[in-house]
Amino acid sequence: MNNLPSVKVDEKYRDRLKEFHTKDDIPQEWRGTPIESFIMSQNFGWPVQPSGHPEVLIATCIEFRYALPIPRMYAYVIRRASGRVIGSEFSVGYTMAKGVRNLIMIGHNDCGMSKMTENAPSVIAAFMEQGWSREAAEAYVQKHGTRHAIEDELESLKDEYIRVKGLFPKLNIAPLFVCLHDGRLYLPNWYSEELAKEISSHHSVNDQIIASLP
Ligand SMILES: [Zn+2]
Repeated sequence: MNNLPSVKVDEKYRDRLKEFHTKDDIPQEWRGTPIESFIMSQNFGWPVQPSGHPEVLIATCIEFRYALPIPRMYAYVIRRASGRVIGSEFSVGYTMAKGVRNLIMIGHNDCGMSKMTENAPSVIAAFMEQGWSREAAEAYVQKHGTRHAIEDELESLKDEYIRVKGLFPKLNIAPLFVCLHDGRLYLPNWYSEELAKEISSHHSVNDQIIASLP
């Protein structure tokens, strides 16, 4: 896909991800769901068979080096810098109202949002080019940069997975990591640990948390 090394050899990621060698490597709770179809399609070339009604919501980064391999009539998609869902909770609610029960959250290696400090001046300049004052552009980037910036792609995906699971406990959520070297999906090592910790999906969601959503 490009000159990036595969996450299998990049020391930043290589010991933190599990490969899907076969269908059996897909976690039990995703079997027979559109999450399984998505992984099988992307990693093994199995064609996705759209059912004609939306069953899955995919949230990922705006990253131009990653093209979602999906047909029409299959998924709702949220693409935002860093891939975080925060700020798009209303969209999640809308898709659930349309029948979606599965959310696929995809992080990736070499995310530009992990370099926000070095990218901030050029982002500020891009806004100024549009006629924004330096002051307003800096304040805006300062305010929104923190919501989009990430320290580490896998840790950020984990934190957001936990946050989103807390808001939508009955949604089947699959955190996946795509390697921009070849477009293959991986499972973060932390997933099984987090799954074991999860509280009952029947708990109610705190009003304060909902009121504080951006
Ligand atoms: Zn990214």
